[in-house]
Parts: sequence; C-alpha cells; structure tokens
Amino acid sequence: MAAIQRPLQVEEDLNPFRIAMRQFDTAADHLKLDAGLREVLRRPHRALTLSLPVKMDNGSIRVFEGFRVQHSNARGPCKGGIRYHPSVSFDEVKALASWMTWKCATVNIPFGGAKGGIICDPHKLSKGELERLTRRYAYEISPIIGPDRDIPAPDVYTDSQVMAWIMDTYSMTHGNNAPGVVTGKPTFLGGSLGRNEATARGCLFVIRAACKVLGIEVGKATAAVQGFGNAGSIAAELLAADGVKIVAVSDSHGGIVNREGLDVQALLKHKRKSGTVLGFPGARQISSGQVLEQDCDVLIPAALENQITLENASRIRARIVAEAANGPTTPGADAVLHKQGTMVLPDILANAGGVTVSYFEWVQDLQELFWEEDDVNRRLEKVMARAFDNVHRTATNYKVDMRTGAYILAIDRVATATSARGIWP
Ligand code: NAD
Repeated sequence: MAAIQRPLQVEEDLNPFRIAMRQFDTAADHLKLDAGLREVLRRPHRALTLSLPVKMDNGSIRVFEGFRVQHSNARGPCKGGIRYHPSVSFDEVKALASWMTWKCATVNIPFGGAKGGIICDPHKLSKGELERLTRRYAYEISPIIGPDRDIPAPDVYTDSQVMAWIMDTYSMTHGNNAPGVVTGKPTFLGGSLGRNEATARGCLFVIRAACKVLGIEVGKATAAVQGFGNAGSIAAELLAADGVKIVAVSDSHGGIVNREGLDVQALLKHKRKSGTVLGFPGARQISSGQVLEQDCDVLIPAALENQITLENASRIRARIVAEAANGPTTPGADAVLHKQGTMVLPDILANAGGVTVSYFEWVQDLQELFWEEDDVNRRLEKVMARAFDNVHRTATNYKVDMRTGAYILAIDRVATATSARGIWP
C-alpha cells in the first residue's frame, strides 16, 4: 500500500518577544552594533507584573493579572498603549514595549518605548467593573508613570474613557490635575483633535508614498482590511475617501467580501448597530484568513499579532502590506513576502501616526495651548512622509527590506543616544 503523503509541517516560533529580538538582531548585525550596547537595547529596562483584585458586581472578588513594561527611556519619557485582551501575556507586552521604542525612533519623536496590558475580556465586564479594574491598575502603575516618565495611551479594547479614568486616578493620588499623564483622552479633557484618526491617517500617508514608489495609482487601487476597530475601520474610511476600492474586511467574528467594493460609510453604520461586519447587505461571508488572501493592491492587517505566517505568506497577493497592527507578520513570512516582491510597510512605520499625534497631544497638554485639527494633520503628514523617505533610503542603501531598514534607522538613533548618555554610574 502506498504511504500517505502528509503536508510538510512548518514549525515557526510565534513568541512575540523572541520575534522582536530576532528583528532587532537582524538590524543590529547590519549596524555591527557593539556587543554590550546590543545587550542593553535588547532587554526591557523595567517591568512590573501586578495582581489586581476587583470587587465584581455580584459581590465576589476577582483577581486579574496586569503588566507595565518600560523598554527604553534613552530618547525621552517612555510611551505606549494599554491593551485589555484575554490573550495578553508578559512576553507580548515586552515585545510591544520594544516595538514602541523603535517606532518612536523611526519617526524621530522624543520618546522611548513602553506598553501595558491586563489579561481580561472587557466585553464580559460591566462598565463599573471595567472602571474599578482600570483605576486599580492605574494606581498600581502610578509610581512609574507620569508626564515626564511614562505616558500610556489606548490600544486594543481600551479607549478614551479608559484614559480618562487613568488620568483621574493619577491626578487624584498626586493632588494636581495631570492631563499629560496619558494621551488618547477625550478632547474636552485635554485630548488632541485628530488623535482618534491618527493611526489610520498616518497609515494612509505611508501607503500613498509607497504607491508612488511602486507606480500604483491610488484612485484606482483596491484594498482589504483585517480588523475593523479604531485603526482598521478608519483606515478603510480614509482610503475609500481617496478613491480606493475596499473589497474585503473582517473583525473578530469573521470576514466579508464584495469585489465591486464595499460602501464603507454604510458598513460603519451596520457595525455600530449590529456589533459586527457580518451580515452586511450585498457582501459574501468569508473567514478572517481569506480576507488576507484577497487579490488587491493594499492589504492592511489591523487586528493582532502573527496573522501573516509561513503558513499563508505565499498566498498573500497584495503588492503592499501596510501594518496598522503591531507584529502581524512573522519573520518567516517577511522573508517569503520580500522574495515575492511584496512591499511590507512595517508596523514601526505604518502605525506610527498614533504615537506621533499622542506626542502632539502631550505637547499641547504641557503648553496648555491647543491646535486646530488641520494643523495636527499637516504636522503628521510631514513626520510620516519624512519617516517613509528615511526608511526607504536606508532599506535601499543596505539592500534590505523595509522592516530591516526601519530597524536599522531606529536602532542607530537609540544606540547613539544611549552611548552619548553613557552607562551610569
Ligand atoms: P480596536 O480594539 O479598536 O480594534 C481591534 C479590531 O480587531 C476589532 O474590530 C476586532 O473585532 C478585530 N479583531 C480581533 N481579532 C480579530 C481576528 N482574529 N480577525 C479579524 N479581526 C479581529 O484596536 P485598535 O486600536 O484598532 O488596534 C488594532 C491594532 O492596531 C493592534 O495591533 C494595535 O496594537 C495597533 N495599533 C493601534 C493604535 C491606535 O492608536 N489605536 C496605534 C498603533 C497600533
């Protein structure tokens, strides 16, 4: 009897922190970075792990696990979002914190990197439970955060309301109003105009620049978007306004496709009403994975890590992958995409619009002087266009892909700052 042919199993390390270290090492090799400096920059500077007891609505006590990791403050105060998700882990938060350091350096804003997270499903908590959990977490991290130390922001399943609670808890316990302790706040509490759209708008600016390099006419392009939250839905909206045809989108429930183009405004209304993109009239239901494999010019992963892997990379047909999400592509998939000529706009460039406008928000809070939205968007475009050019030039000079180019640029900046400050004492 003939032996059964089994498909070759490809083992890939999906641990986000080890992936972040690999990405760092690849670029550090190109830079021939000093061994001691390499050890300093690979590791997080400081990390807190927390047990967070919360009184639940039914009178019981539940203990949640939370983290705040500060990767580097060599170029300025640490900066990074807070994630509420059941799959949060210490290694994920460490990876996300280091990506923040490289992101702030890529766009050349004076911040280091940090990240926080709580293992929880916020959709299963009442508003009161969410507030008590947030305030307990804010209190526990308040010795290491502050406007000139570490400034949190929203990330997956956290929003401006969560930021308002953190700002209030910090302000109450410090005895002064401290809007600069978090960004992504409501505008009436010192938030910046344009912050809500900033991640997506920054992504749009680098997509436009990449289309120019590749000779793609934006107004005739097609796009698919995985994840329909803050980053993904607004990216779809802004691209559609640029004339791009959005052919497929997904959220945590699954995906939809319409090769004639989805009406994004109507889809946003549908999602607000029903809680999902599924069931949108005129669209066919597909899986979230199939959204990634659509024939299109631009693919925007805007959900979570490890979505484009060795398993599906060769089926990605987009010419540009713009990483609105952090860490959506594994190193193995990166190699496949580079070989097949796909331009990957790496997370530390493509979604840096969020932290850039967070920087603008912090500057406005410290000065107590607020800018017009046009001014915010104009400054953002300048930062993103310059960052794209710098990354593209570095990648071309070193003959590497855009991710490695961005890391080379960023690590060089952080290494220069670290060496100039010296190792204390
Ligand atoms: P969000 O909570 O607003 O949205 C997340 C979206 O992803 C939701 O629509 C959810 O349904 C969807 N999703 C979850 N699992 C999915 C799956 N398996 N398949 C398809 N969709 C799925 O979060 P966000 O702020 O938009 O963040 C999304 C990504 O963008 C994250 O990686 C985050 O770190 C990154 N990011 C966000 C910002 C920001 O300013 N919000 C800035 C930089 C990077």
